[in-house]
Amino acid sequence: MLARFCALVGSSRGYVLILDNAARQLVPTVPIGYENFDPPTARTMDDANDPFVVALLGMQVVTCAHGLPRSGISRRTRLIAVPFPQPRVMDAPRFIDRPDADRRLTGPCSIASIDSARAWLERPDGVALSPYGVFVLETESLPVALDRIACAARLAGPMLSRLAASDAHRDRAEELADQRAVLTSIVNSLPDPIVIIDGAHQIVVQNQRAEHLLSMSERDSEGRRRAVEINNLLLTSHLSKETASSAVNGAAEARELNMVDPDDGTDLLFEVLTQPLDENENAIVSVLRDVTDLRRAANELELQVQRVRLAEYEAKRESDRLNLILTNVADPILVTDDRANIILMNRQAELLFGSATPNIGYATGDRSTAVRANDTKFTTFISDFSLSPESARREDMELQKPGDHPATIPMEVVAGKIVDRRGEPLAIVSVLHDLTEQAENERLYEELKNFSNELEARVRAATADLGEQNVRLQWQSRELEKANRLKSEFLASMSHELRTPINALIGYTALMLDRIYGDLNDRQEEGLVRIRAAAQHLLALINDILDLAKIEAGRMPLHLEDTVLQELIREASVQIDPLIKKKGLTYRWIAPDEPLHMMTDRTKVKQIMLNLLSNAVKFTHSGTITLSAQQEGDLVRLDVTDSGIGIRKEDLSAIWDDFRQVDQSRTREFGGTGLGLSITRKLSGALGGRVTLSSEYGRGSTFTIFLPIRTEPHRERDG
Ligand code: ADP
Repeated sequence: MLARFCALVGSSRGYVLILDNAARQLVPTVPIGYENFDPPTARTMDDANDPFVVALLGMQVVTCAHGLPRSGISRRTRLIAVPFPQPRVMDAPRFIDRPDADRRLTGPCSIASIDSARAWLERPDGVALSPYGVFVLETESLPVALDRIACAARLAGPMLSRLAASDAHRDRAEELADQRAVLTSIVNSLPDPIVIIDGAHQIVVQNQRAEHLLSMSERDSEGRRRAVEINNLLLTSHLSKETASSAVNGAAEARELNMVDPDDGTDLLFEVLTQPLDENENAIVSVLRDVTDLRRAANELELQVQRVRLAEYEAKRESDRLNLILTNVADPILVTDDRANIILMNRQAELLFGSATPNIGYATGDRSTAVRANDTKFTTFISDFSLSPESARREDMELQKPGDHPATIPMEVVAGKIVDRRGEPLAIVSVLHDLTEQAENERLYEELKNFSNELEARVRAATADLGEQNVRLQWQSRELEKANRLKSEFLASMSHELRTPINALIGYTALMLDRIYGDLNDRQEEGLVRIRAAAQHLLALINDILDLAKIEAGRMPLHLEDTVLQELIREASVQIDPLIKKKGLTYRWIAPDEPLHMMTDRTKVKQIMLNLLSNAVKFTHSGTITLSAQQEGDLVRLDVTDSGIGIRKEDLSAIWDDFRQVDQSRTREFGGTGLGLSITRKLSGALGGRVTLSSEYGRGSTFTIFLPIRTEPHRERDG
């Protein structure tokens, strides 16, 4: 357009001044024909008399007789300034009216008088306008077409302004696109995922790293797609929580978020920094800082710290324990360095080696001497030991006991070296042990041992003696047994010899009492009765003794036969009946109705019954005597019960002995030999049975015999 105008005015040079509102300047653009000339410079709007400013604000074509300074137009030619408007702009300068414009112009410049002047200010199209620019043209003479040029400029102004605006927009857009490209490459090069999310939590923008975590395509593997889905869910829920909490707290703060690496499925940990992009927080930008390695390292560090703390704690405990041991151990303990200097000792050691001890005070006099002597001995020992290659040493040492009553203490020193990693000795720990008690114990032990040896010798001698006595006793016992057997054999074999004379005595006495040898006077008769009674007693005694002897000598064979128990009881009862009657007692026997068959020696069973029944009668003054019999399994049980004098507890076992009668006076009263029960027991034993007794003194007794229903035949042989 400028070129057209130049052609119309026959000019070779011209340019356009455009209003820069912000800078309050008129800025030259698109100069034509300035290749060999100084280009025009900008003009300030603050110069109210500048012809270009006046032309613009007054919207009047201004012509100047020659060029102006800094206008680029030479002073030899004429200058024409043709203004043009733009659609109204808010802060644009205001127009001035014609008189004002006239007033401002001086010198070579004046308003050109043309037909269309200011016609456009009447707003023919109703569009509000603002000043915009000025065409500056160089011309030799005032052109004829000036009116047309002014009109064209006026009409073209708004279009030009729009074109310029669109150019500016395009430039801006290109610039923005460049900036965007730069920013995108910067953002993409960041190792941290960055996402911009709109109010609906949809991702609007994300960098490559975020895309890797949060976007997927059809070609991706199933695993990767699932991981991406999970990541999206995690992020969305994190962000919605975040928005809620930041609505409360107001400030954006870093929170942790777990995600999954879509490539290998490993866990990732991010620190999410969220920042709203605008006031309304519709869009937020989130920077996810990958702290997986950091956290791993932090955890590892934490673990290390904990381990160190634990080790410290253990070490402290160990040292506390050592201190406790040191202070509480009853033995003196010393720690010395490799030059035999004491660096640590417990209280017990201080008593022996300390020159100044807390509760004792400074060592003086005898005490000091004792301490020095101890120190010398100990230092010698330690020096010697530290030079030797051995790692531990034990030695007995006599130390002085410092104090009011000096004494020598036998001590045992056990020392061990503490070495560093290279085996160099660092310190020596010595434990001293008082051997006084041990020495005393050893002495006592020695004494005890001697005493024990002596005792042992005595016991050995006594045992030897006993052995001898035992041999003698065994011999005596055998002799006794032999004698007893001989006695029994003698008695058994003498049975006939003993009984025959007594039977003769009884028989002849009976004949005499029956007056076979003539009459007797009373005294003779009384004598004979006594003789007969004595003889009968003697016979009974001899019978008993002989029976016993026979049993003991094994000369009383069993004659086993089928026997009905009831018959035996009946016979014994008939035999005992006279004695019962004589003492006015009651007697009854009880037995099963069915005959009870036994395979036994009937004579011996009957003798057992008679022995027990006669004793019962003998020791009963009044009342009842009962014999009851019953079967118990394969045994027969016989009970002989009386209501007699009974037997004292202490005599219960003695009555079974041979010739034993519990009360001499009573025996005299009751008579007897003291053999009955002994024989009874031996007989029942021979039959394979046994006897028991229960008795209450003063009330009566029960003797019970258990006999086998069938006595084994071998007993017959034995018997
Ligand atoms: P003995 O009857 O000939 O004296 P025993 O051997 O038969 O000799 O009895 C020993 C002692 O047992 C008797 O002296 C008597 O003291 C006591 N004794 C035996 N049976 C009875 C009984 N039924 N009641 C009280 N005492 C008895």
